[in-house]
Amino acid sequence: MRRPPILKIHEIFASLQGEGLRQGEPTLFIRLTGCNLRCAFCDTRHAWDQGEDQTVEQIVDRVLCLRRDFPSEWVCLTGGEPLLQDIGGLLQALTQALLKIQVETNATRPPVFPVDWYTVSPKPPDYDLLPGLTEVARELKLVVSSDLTADTCLRLARRFPAETPLILQPESNQDWSIQKGQVLLRKVLASGKTNVRLSMQLHKIIDMP
Ligand code: SF4
Repeated sequence: MRRPPILKIHEIFASLQGEGLRQGEPTLFIRLTGCNLRCAFCDTRHAWDQGEDQTVEQIVDRVLCLRRDFPSEWVCLTGGEPLLQDIGGLLQALTQALLKIQVETNATRPPVFPVDWYTVSPKPPDYDLLPGLTEVARELKLVVSSDLTADTCLRLARRFPAETPLILQPESNQDWSIQKGQVLLRKVLASGKTNVRLSMQLHKIIDMP
């Protein structure tokens, strides 16, 4: 007998999208366990290895249960790195439940499934970016860490279509990072890339998960 698809899930919760162009929109989050990177600034280290195996049916049941009290149009697969696991069956089930789907990825795995919104966020030190992601991304999001330079912002942004916005995301809303984000934004603007935004982590400001 064929085993049902099993995914390792860290948590499923309702909140507002705290980052990027969709900031402020009610969203149901599925945080998948596991990441192939180890960023120094990672604020979801707990998702690197902690989680429990769940079937697609269990995951979707939980999402729909949350949606009864928090009727969001959107579900966001995040991590960790969600593209490390075989999420095809889950995406199909979420689509059948008429949810719009966002996937947040660190850009090291190919976008094997079409979704409504890919947030592509390459990470230091190498800022690897698989080519297939540049065409499907709805936004390029870069954490304003100590590594990030204006040259890196521009080098990466040039690989995307001009209409893809660049989001500068200060690391954990820290003052030094917000100030650095403003400096980077001015440099990027001065270079002619005007489709750029500075974004604070809203969920941390309003103390939501
Ligand atoms: S890619 Fe994301 S989840 Fe993975 S270590 Fe970096 S910040 Fe953390």
